Amino acid sequence: MTAQVNMFINGKSVPPASQLYFETINPADGTVLAEVARGTEADIHAAVEAADAASETWGSVNPMERARILNRLAQAIRDNMESLGRMESDDMGIPYEAQHIVIEGSAEFFEYYAGLAPSLQGDTIPADQDKFVYTTYEPYGVVGIITPWNAPLNQAARSAAPALAAGNTVVLKPSEYTSLSTVEFARLASEAGLPDGVLNVVTGFGPDVGAPLAAHRKVSKVGFTGSVRTGQAIGAIAAEKVMPVTLELGGKSPNIVFEDADLAAAIPMVLFGFIANSGQICSSGTRVLVQRSIYEEFSKMIAAAAEQIPIGIDKPFPCLGPIANQMQYDKVLNYFQSARDEGATILTGGEKATGEGLDDGLYIRPTVFTDVARDMRIVREEIFGPAGVLIPFDTEEEAIEIANDTDYGLCSGIWTRDVSRVHRVARKIKAGTVYVNTYHDHSVGAPVGGYKKSGIGRERGIQALRQYTQMKNVTMNLA
Ligand code: ADP
Repeated sequence: MTAQVNMFINGKSVPPASQLYFETINPADGTVLAEVARGTEADIHAAVEAADAASETWGSVNPMERARILNRLAQAIRDNMESLGRMESDDMGIPYEAQHIVIEGSAEFFEYYAGLAPSLQGDTIPADQDKFVYTTYEPYGVVGIITPWNAPLNQAARSAAPALAAGNTVVLKPSEYTSLSTVEFARLASEAGLPDGVLNVVTGFGPDVGAPLAAHRKVSKVGFTGSVRTGQAIGAIAAEKVMPVTLELGGKSPNIVFEDADLAAAIPMVLFGFIANSGQICSSGTRVLVQRSIYEEFSKMIAAAAEQIPIGIDKPFPCLGPIANQMQYDKVLNYFQSARDEGATILTGGEKATGEGLDDGLYIRPTVFTDVARDMRIVREEIFGPAGVLIPFDTEEEAIEIANDTDYGLCSGIWTRDVSRVHRVARKIKAGTVYVNTYHDHSVGAPVGGYKKSGIGRERGIQALRQYTQMKNVTMNLA
């Protein structure tokens, strides 16, 4: 019989008020992994009430003690690295040999924010002699966190760790496609000593549970990672409630290769930039801008490198796993069709990957497009699959102009050995992150977030911790 996975509310595994469950599928072979509790507004209400009841106590815990508890959560992730990793592979398709990277990263978020928790100190403000003026950072109370399916535990940890470190309690809603690791983490966190009600997980579909979570009057801040469309819907709810939000949305990031770049170093990393996690990363460097003098050579090299990547969840890393779910798989293949219809050339890939062990899975070959026009859908829209478009340019100015010709602004890359150019270009690119001679290279303390439609606010780093707090000013008359 298929296992049933319940929600986690107030320190307990709880069945859904609806009594309904939905299937979660292994994208590598199409088998049903588990049945997941289908939450509704009633479950959100129970979870928010639990979080609200726990909020006063958790917010008053000495930050050193909060830090100790968060470190125990990190240790719980490390102790269960293998089972959590396997769960992540089965549920979302991350290759077996890559699991440890995202699971370890999840533990690091808790370690990093445990370290920062006791440092959330305010200022004393110079004022008249008979005044004493100071600021403190206070938690919001109950924070709602809504995560996508492309790196489930990692995304949950990235937002939950700073929110909890700052003294908030959390109601987390994972993607309906990949709920398992988040529910399991909440259980492990409880075992590791996190008090009841501090971290609650409600599973289910976006409109059924995500929307009522954002709209709940006791939820005072939302951290959301996902599509622009849903980000806008949450933003509209937030506007109505006058509630702050952190939105980490899509990207169509430029990765600019100048003619003086070290091509041996650039080729594998530029390729990794758009095929890592089968391209299902919002910061993917999907628009590869290449200086015309090396365009032909670069095109041949990157297509050849793409063809060398082993495909299969069990292949030696770096390899390509399946697309995480059928909806996304269909979407990627539709984009490939639009590329054909609009006249792009497929240098390599552009289709389902077939062969031993692949036929039942949602595998797509690494894909490189050339001969693209700026208004093509594959150039303007986020594909979220293992695909990049090559675009030639002549001058530095033109590269910057093309790089910024997008509604998005999450990430970018520059490949050159010219240090002055690095700083000139980095300054002009409208994106929250600029990688130089590297890509997808993220220290836990480095903030990520978007310019333009890529989002509002920053995740990671000390900025994220502050964004899960509100500042209070106290002014006292000493006279
Ligand atoms: P993606 O394409 O990355 O799945 P979505 O924005 O569709 O992006 O989903 C991200 C998260 O937002 C998921 O947990 C999903 O269930 C949730 N979600 C989807 N629609 C809504 C909504 N209307 N309100 C709140 N959350 C939603």
